[in-house]
Amino acid sequence: MSDDWEPLVKELARWEEAGRVAEFWLRDDDAVEPTPALDRLLDLTGRFAVPVCLAVIPAYTGGPLAERLAQAPQASVAVHGWSHANHASPAEKKQELGPHRPPEAVLSELSLGLERLTRLYGGRVDPVLVPPWNRIHRSVAGRLPEAGFAALSVFGPERPGPLPMLNTHVDLIDWHGTRGCRDHSVLAAELAAQIGRAFAGRARFAGLLTHHLVHDTSAWEFLERLAAITSAHPACVWLHTHELLPRSALFTDAPS
Ligand SMILES: [Zn+2]
Repeated sequence: MSDDWEPLVKELARWEEAGRVAEFWLRDDDAVEPTPALDRLLDLTGRFAVPVCLAVIPAYTGGPLAERLAQAPQASVAVHGWSHANHASPAEKKQELGPHRPPEAVLSELSLGLERLTRLYGGRVDPVLVPPWNRIHRSVAGRLPEAGFAALSVFGPERPGPLPMLNTHVDLIDWHGTRGCRDHSVLAAELAAQIGRAFAGRARFAGLLTHHLVHDTSAWEFLERLAAITSAHPACVWLHTHELLPRSALFTDAPS
């Protein structure tokens, strides 16, 4: 095994020695339809039995994705905004769910998104909102339960808020540089650091963020190696989204 993975392997050894199991979660953004890249993601996660949460853009998805997911029991669906449209000015960071429109207008789109995905994908859908570009204004976030959501998923450490957060903590892609996969040793060290925080009780799990549509060879290699190392490891488990939701959320009916 190359040295790239040493920090993660070492950290997992510590969990094993302590008789504990580190929890991982995989969120992949921007799915709307079956593509060769989505096939590759579903094939990889299927082979290693790694559950994957697909953040699907409601406005543009439809029956073909539902048919594809019927053969991918490891995949679940979360709501990725409404149409992934940017409403911010060119001077600002991109946002669909920012303060640029009345919160009521944003919430009614999000509620429609949850409804549409539930109609298409039924029980595969978890009532979790994944804001496009991981950005959401507090005036919208505070009212998400009104739109039927039980949890919010962005990037970075979870913070106390109006509803539970299921975040991602490590991003596979170097968005501001090569727009390809980040260095494997850095990614492995970041995952090790996040489960290290969980070991100390300062985090719950490690969330990995991927974007299948832009993966280069290095991104696929990283994901495959990570799946191989963790899925065979006694001190690791990959969780389904619903396993990370608070128990009460499982009894919340999504709007029909
Ligand atoms: Zn996105």
